[in-house]
Amino acid sequence: MDDCVTIKKKHLQRPIFRLRCLVKQLEKGDINVVDLKKNIEYAASVLEAVYIDETRKLLDTEDELSDIQSDSVPLEVRDWLASTFTREMGIVKRRPEEKPKFRSIVHAVQAGIFVERMYRKTSSMVGLAYPAEVIVTFKIPVPNLISFAEALEVGYSKYKNPYHNLIHAADVTQTVHYIMIHTGIMHWLTELEILAMIFAAAVHDYEHTGTTNNFHIQTRSDVAILYNDRSVLENHHVSAAYRLMQEEEMNILANLNKDDWRELRSLVIEMVLSTDMSGHFQQIKTMRHTLQQAQGVDKAKAMSLILHAADISHPAKSWELHYRWTMALMEEFFRQGDKEAALGLQFSPLCDRKSTLVAQSQIGFIDFIVEPTFSLLTDSMEKIVMPLIEEATKSESPAFGTPGQNSLGGVSNAEAQRRPGFKSTGDGGAHAENSLATVDLRGFRDNLMKIIQANKERWKELAAEEELGKNVGEQEKDQSRNSTDAQLQEETTRTQNESSQGSDGTTCPPRSIVLQVVSFDTPLSDESSSEKCTISDPNQKDLSDAQQETQSTDPLNGEPKHCKKSEDIVKATEQTEALVQN
Ligand code: 5GP
Ligand code: MN
Repeated sequence: MDDCVTIKKKHLQRPIFRLRCLVKQLEKGDINVVDLKKNIEYAASVLEAVYIDETRKLLDTEDELSDIQSDSVPLEVRDWLASTFTREMGIVKRRPEEKPKFRSIVHAVQAGIFVERMYRKTSSMVGLAYPAEVIVTFKIPVPNLISFAEALEVGYSKYKNPYHNLIHAADVTQTVHYIMIHTGIMHWLTELEILAMIFAAAVHDYEHTGTTNNFHIQTRSDVAILYNDRSVLENHHVSAAYRLMQEEEMNILANLNKDDWRELRSLVIEMVLSTDMSGHFQQIKTMRHTLQQAQGVDKAKAMSLILHAADISHPAKSWELHYRWTMALMEEFFRQGDKEAALGLQFSPLCDRKSTLVAQSQIGFIDFIVEPTFSLLTDSMEKIVMPLIEEATKSESPAFGTPGQNSLGGVSNAEAQRRPGFKSTGDGGAHAENSLATVDLRGFRDNLMKIIQANKERWKELAAEEELGKNVGEQEKDQSRNSTDAQLQEETTRTQNESSQGSDGTTCPPRSIVLQVVSFDTPLSDESSSEKCTISDPNQKDLSDAQQETQSTDPLNGEPKHCKKSEDIVKATEQTEALVQN
């Protein structure tokens, strides 16, 4: 935490100082570009404001697990494995909005992305690489960004979902960011498209009700009626997010011109709708087909695949993270199951907390969904990025790491001419650390696949325990039929406290069982990994050695070293149990 604060201070104070100096120089010299000065002042004040805000947030300890309140709000889930659409009934309940204490989306969207961008822009401005009009034209008004991000957080917290909450949004946003950088695909995309990707990720599950599309359809919920049973939730996510921006003070896209606004909207709609998992197999098939063709890959399709992959990326992260996300999702499933039971309906697949075989279902999920998706993702990135790398090597393009002015990097000239304001992020060549030269697609793929495999192996071990535990559980059930522990899934465990050492030295959830649900309302606390994942870019040079070390084996993680350890998981479980029982 202290390290984080120091890093942020360094990041933010430097550009503020430089900008102030630049303003002074401008005042003395004859480069009296009024607009430029105004914008430098503006950027400096923005950085100051963000710095103060960030520091305050980092010192905020209100997000501890101990503060989490459990309740039985309806939760969601969409069953992948039994992807034949079983249909059930449920109720859409609206809860009064309340402002969450946790500000992870603000962290991700505002700090992680905006500040970085501003920093880059202002750094480049020192060398006068950007005309003032560019800065003016494409800035996102900061107060609007803050209001919008806060409203997003409120929406993500509305149903108190264990899984589909603001942390999931931040996690997916960070992962999309990571994929764009580390596959080099950012050099293929325009800035408008990059903005669309980040924006789509941030809003993609906005106001998720914690129940599945089928649940909405069967219960004839308002949204199901509104969207004619088609991608009900996904339509709502994107529509409701855009509705927010109808309010002037939340309109982060206020400075886009008409064409850009429409283009961004079209991309965002396509991407978010493609997160409807019922389109998964079709999406995979279409993309596979595209890769076999000679012609280039459709941008919207490639971007949709990135978001889709990020959305189901936790099995490609460290076991600690993956395990926690899995348990949070399972709790969502089970709460839907509780609702179904209360309504006298059949359980949806994976929603019966008494009988669901979590480990076994995860093996299927990884085998049939996750692996093929990530394999396709890496194939697609290779098809797109390899030619860019070749081209850049030949021409020694700045996107390949050689500094230069106003370079378009890997972006085709046609694209750049069409959209001069939105150049590749390779422009200026000032950020060699993210240049095409540093892209290691093979390493990216190998790491991902290695982690996915390792996680699958862990599930296999647990599946064996699960089989055993199922029998133990059944015996226990016979012995205490009057147990009131209806809220938590059956504990199939024997040795909760037995922990094992992971290969990286971190403590992992006990191998011999613990298929328990952890922390329900906000699955990963402020102290936990997801938060850090969100705001850390694993490859940033100023990260600690430990972080760099970790991510060398864990490509999508910000920093598994920060993950909650198994004791915490057990503790969280105990706390939650107590809350549930109360
Ligand atoms: P989302 O609802 O987050 O936009 O799309 C992701 C969907 O993928 C989830 O709703 C859920 O159905 C599925 N999913 C994500 N992670 C897991 C997992 O670990 N296990 C299973 N069975 N499904 C998952
Ligand atoms: Mn999602």
